[in-house]
Amino acid sequence: MSAFALIMLCIIGLCWGSFLNVLILRTISGESIIAPASKCPHCGTPLANWQKIPIISYIILKGKCYFCNGKISLIYPIMEIVGAAIVLFAFLKNPSKLDAISVTMILSMFLTMAATDIATKKICTSQAVTAGLFALLLNRHDLISSISGGLIATLLLIIVIKLFIKFTNNNPFGVGDIYLTAALGTVVGFDKLFLYLIYALIIQFLFILPKYIKEQLLSQNYETLKYLIFFATTCLFLYFLKHAKFFGANLLVVILSGLMLFFAYKLSKKLMTAVKSSETLSYSPFAPAIAISCLIFFC
Ligand SMILES: [Zn+2]
Repeated sequence: MSAFALIMLCIIGLCWGSFLNVLILRTISGESIIAPASKCPHCGTPLANWQKIPIISYIILKGKCYFCNGKISLIYPIMEIVGAAIVLFAFLKNPSKLDAISVTMILSMFLTMAATDIATKKICTSQAVTAGLFALLLNRHDLISSISGGLIATLLLIIVIKLFIKFTNNNPFGVGDIYLTAALGTVVGFDKLFLYLIYALIIQFLFILPKYIKEQLLSQNYETLKYLIFFATTCLFLYFLKHAKFFGANLLVVILSGLMLFFAYKLSKKLMTAVKSSETLSYSPFAPAIAISCLIFFC
């Protein structure tokens, strides 16, 4: 790729990021993407064209509104850079322009859904559908895997939701999450679906864990933490014992495996009770974890 083409891609990417800013804000506020024109969030004055240039406007205005001096969030230029990064990544990785556009659209939609889910727990289903349609375009040579991936993903999430409701009387997922998971399934296809769903669940767990630990420490409830530490320690020991060849090593592995299962059982029971009572666990956005899992797939 020539230097000129790279610069052009960066400029297009920054503008695309600027559009994603609008898309996220308008999804949150429920307004149309096309009208009204962009305005200052503080004083409501419509922005002049020179105030809408990605990055440059932010630097010229020193992060403040031209009219009312209200602070412009750093999120705007960051999203513009992220938009450029998505476009560059998609076009450098995919020789086919159609594939590059599809990857750009898929990653952008997942990014938008993650942002709106974090901000207001709202996922726009039409964005999930857009991601799914571009996934079909991207996987046009293996449509059966793509479509079945989407369908099985939907089914799996419905089963998970049913299980959650049955065992905890609590449902941490919304309708948007079903669309989102279906879109991920369409992207990765049937054969890789389980792997990337597991990635998403692990990432979700890692997101929740610090908040959950903090909540437990504040309420001075150390039971779950105790089992978590026991579980992690036995896992670590087992990992190091993998290639051990000393006398009695096998017996030790058996004992430790048993202990690990016991701690896993205790931990899952504690977590189940926690889901019933904890706000943090019940209402954590799932879209960021799915978006990261999708990004891992494209890397
Ligand atoms: Zn203003």
